[in-house]
Amino acid sequence: MPLPFALNHINLWLLRDEIADDAGVRQGWTIVDCGIADAATRALWEAIFNTQLDGLPVLRVIATHMHPDHIGLAHWLTTRWSRPVHAADSGFDCRLWMSATDYAVAVLGSRADSSMGGDAAADFAARHGLLDAEAVAQIRERASFFASMVPRMPAAYRRLMDGELVPAGSTATPAGRHPWRCIAGYGHAPEHIALYNAALGVLISGDMLLPRISTNISVSHHEPEADPLAMFLASLDRLRELPADTLVLPSHGKPFQGLHARIDQLFAHHADRLAEVMAACRQTPHSAADLLPVLFKRPLDVHQTTFALGEAIAHLNALWHQGQLVRRPDAQGVYRFSPA
Ligand SMILES: [Zn+2]
Repeated sequence: MPLPFALNHINLWLLRDEIADDAGVRQGWTIVDCGIADAATRALWEAIFNTQLDGLPVLRVIATHMHPDHIGLAHWLTTRWSRPVHAADSGFDCRLWMSATDYAVAVLGSRADSSMGGDAAADFAARHGLLDAEAVAQIRERASFFASMVPRMPAAYRRLMDGELVPAGSTATPAGRHPWRCIAGYGHAPEHIALYNAALGVLISGDMLLPRISTNISVSHHEPEADPLAMFLASLDRLRELPADTLVLPSHGKPFQGLHARIDQLFAHHADRLAEVMAACRQTPHSAADLLPVLFKRPLDVHQTTFALGEAIAHLNALWHQGQLVRRPDAQGVYRFSPA
């Protein structure tokens, strides 16, 4: 599905499936991840429903995590495929399945008066050295940015947890039915769920393992002392136990094999970044904003600047938690980091 960002697409997955309920075994499909909530994406989904589902319904929606490109249409999709209870029909709930943490954060964010952006985000950015008045004002005005892309969340969901086995697939097809193991991952979203199918040798990696770009690892104003980089690298390490020939289905970019080499690349990438941050802070105390030209050697718009600032803070916080950097507020209250 298309996305209106520099990252211009998201991969969504359709699993041929069956679900047993009060009415017996229903044949149909499971959707993994939703696309953003706009008319163009809804129209593309309708075209897929008309041409690709063999006349069968969608039975459930699994969301890997709460980012708008993954969760935006969850309410629309589950409503579109649920049927109310009638006298002659026990009805059907097309349910959203995801982690409890991400469900809760998405519900909060979908409220227009949410704290996903606004004053707290602007103050946090200023505290980390973003002093450009125009940029800070734009962040202040983006309080409902998340809600604009996730206008509504389903009122009910089903919880997915690390290690849980989710059977999927259809006994009516040659591929059959097999368990998908939930693998929780941290550092990119509150509690991202990747899905691994040992029988098929397939990992639906979501945003935790991408073939070309590195996953966004950011600190936000909600959790200013967080160390998401350490959590992300620990989560990647857990994926090393998967077989070398696993087919990885990422949310962005093409499916690939070779997850161990990709994990090694990502570790090397972040080690390089940490070394650059240390080298800069050794020369003179740096704020996160000071590091943007060091880490991102291209001009950034406001949307990109907030992501980049979050990434810079993630690398600073990692070194701070390791005890390699200390931080002190300067006369303007901006955190500056220097070697411990
Ligand atoms: Zn994401």
